[in-house]
Parts: sequence; structure tokens; C-alpha cells
Amino acid sequence: MTMEHGEDCCVKVAVHVRPLIGDEKLQGCKDCVAVVPGKPQVQIGSHSFTFDHIYGSTGTPSVAMFDECVAPLVDGLFQGYNATVLAYGQTGSGKTYTMGTACKEGSHIGIIPRAMAALFDKIESLKSQVEFQLRVSFIEILKEEVRDLLDPTVATVGKVENGNGHPKLSVPGKPLVQIREASNGVITLAGSTEVHVSTRKEMTACLEHGSLSRATGSTNMNNQSSRSHAIFTITLEQMRKTDPIMTADGMPIEEMNEDYLCAKLHLVDLAGSERAKRTGSDGLRFKEGVHINRGLLALGNVISALGDEKKRKEGAHVPYRDSKLTRLLQDSLGGNSKTVMIACISPADTNAEETLNTLKYANRAR
Ligand code: ADP
Ligand code: MG
Repeated sequence: MTMEHGEDCCVKVAVHVRPLIGDEKLQGCKDCVAVVPGKPQVQIGSHSFTFDHIYGSTGTPSVAMFDECVAPLVDGLFQGYNATVLAYGQTGSGKTYTMGTACKEGSHIGIIPRAMAALFDKIESLKSQVEFQLRVSFIEILKEEVRDLLDPTVATVGKVENGNGHPKLSVPGKPLVQIREASNGVITLAGSTEVHVSTRKEMTACLEHGSLSRATGSTNMNNQSSRSHAIFTITLEQMRKTDPIMTADGMPIEEMNEDYLCAKLHLVDLAGSERAKRTGSDGLRFKEGVHINRGLLALGNVISALGDEKKRKEGAHVPYRDSKLTRLLQDSLGGNSKTVMIACISPADTNAEETLNTLKYANRAR
């Protein structure tokens, strides 16, 4: 069941197979996922899928994954291309581990910390010619409401003054953040904290702060973090300082001729996919059920529409407006932007059904 896949496709899909973990071993789970050696192909039961990349449990998958899937996106930021990295999969499949969202000290280094390192290395090498400004935001979408994870008051007090005298409620679940679309198509968030950072340490502090408010924002943290999408966004602004243009007698026409670029990278730890059920065996649309996550359904439909080259050329409708998640990512999914989806799967036979669902979802994204 392999499919042809053009190199120029705007969405790349990788699969990350984690090893069996402690609990699964204790329960006597068997490994039911086979990675075909030397090929980006994965087999489960009688099903076989080919993706852009497969990372197994051997070697150092996180290094290879970063270099092959994410480093080009970080580089693209410097050319002004927006980008999105999405970790998809059932709860417990390794999304947070892969993204490095939890930022636990001493643990393995996930994609977000590696992206930060690559970003600051590049800035360091270019800063003599270019002036940079960096901003980060960290939000969570839960039940179609956007929450600010960097609100400095959330973890401590529930209510503060807004500066203009109006109370700003910081109750978890309260929709503080609005998604806005400018006439040029740029999506912005109104009401979320944007932190200006100039060092890697400051950026890491934002990741840690947000992860903490994600975990403490609810009385039932496992439940909440598995049902919400966490989006860490890095915005890079650049002012290229080119040589001043001279008149014939050697006087500069302009003090400085500046070239401005702005691009953002969204790093998304998606909600657990176990509630997203597909309709039929090969239904073209995901259908919403009782507990189904709207963002994941809409994302599947958006990515599928983007991946359908024929439809794309005909200017077919891409249903960004169907969820907060796809609306927020609208200017960074498709078009000129670069997108990588990393489908995370457990190899345990007890998870075989969800693993198959994840692979089908990811396959549709190609
Ligand atoms: P999710 O965010 O998808 O719910 P987690 O990232 O929390 O899943 O991972 C579930 C468990 O599996 C954690 O204990 C995590 O440390 C472990 N785990 C995930 N991926 C790997 C991996 N590639 N190697 C080793 N352990 C992993
Ligand atoms: Mg998680």
C-alpha cells in the first residue's frame, strides 16, 4: 500500500516509533511494529506504510530527526518562511518526549530545545550583518478555547488588573486569547503574552514556565494535557543591514538600507489522537463524534486538502476555519510555509488499533 510522493509536497511526514516502556514490558506487551531496514517503511499486521522518514528506537533518533526534519525549517525562518512542526499520536505515544515540551531537566533533548540551539547558533553567526529580534508565545487550546501559558499571573493569582482598570480573569479555561487575521493574511493572537527574548536561556525559561502552567492549570493534569494542543511559537524578526547606496561623489543616499523579514515557527504538541475516530474505512472526511477533538479533525482535513496537488492547483477550499487550531496555524500551514508532522507511535500490541489509526491519519497527510 505504498503511494507516490512528490518531493515538493508542502507537508513532510515522519514517524517516530518509541521503544516499549516499563509498564508495557511489565504487562508482557509484544512489539507489533516493524521498521523495514533501509527504507522509510513501517509494517503493522498486514498493513504497510511509507513516509518521508521513520525513526525507530535504535541509534539516536532525536539527532537524526532534528537534522532531517526540523533544521531545514529553522534555516527557512532566516529566509522569511513560516513553519510548523506537529507531534501527533495517542496519549503515551511520545509526543511530549519528541517535542521536548515538558523540558524536564536531565532528560533527553527534544525538538524544541534543539531548535532553540540551532536558532541561536545561526543568529550568532549572522549578527554582524543582521539585527535580530525574537519573541516567544506559548498557548494551549482546550475545548476550542485559547489559553495563555505565559501569563505571568496565571500560576499565582486568579485575577489581576489589566492596567486600564479592567479585571483580567485568569481562570483556566477562560478564553483570554483571540485569534485575529490581518488583511494581508497574517495571523496574530490578541491577549496572549509575547515575551521578547535575547538569549537561549531566556527562551528556555519561557518553555519551562509555560510547561508548568500547562501542568498546574488543571486539577487533572494528565487528562488536560492529553486533551489540549500546546503551541510554542518563536517569531524571528530580521533587519538586514546592507551597504548604504552612494551618490557619485561618495555621499550615502540613505543612512542605512534595511531589508525587513519576519517569520514564525510553531512547535505543536497536539492533543491525544485517541478520540479522533475516522468515518468508514477510507472516508475522506473525519466526522465529529461525542468526545472528538475538533482541532485534530480539522487539521486532518486541512493537511489532506493541502496534500492533494490536483485540488490545490484548482484552488480548492482549505477548511482552516473549522477549528481554533487550524485558524491559528493558517499562515504557517501550506502556501510558502514548511510543515512537518511527526506521527508518534507505541510499538505495543495492546496499542495496535490506535497505532494503525495514527498511521492512517499520517498517511492521509502525505
Ligand atoms: P505523550 O506526550 O504522547 O502522551 P509522552 O511523551 O509523555 O507521551 O511519553 C510517554 C512515556 O513514554 C513517557 O514516560 C516517556 O518518557 C516515554 N517515551 C516516549 N518516547 C520515548 C522514546 N523515544 N524513548 C524512550 N522513552 C520514551
Ligand atoms: Mg504529552
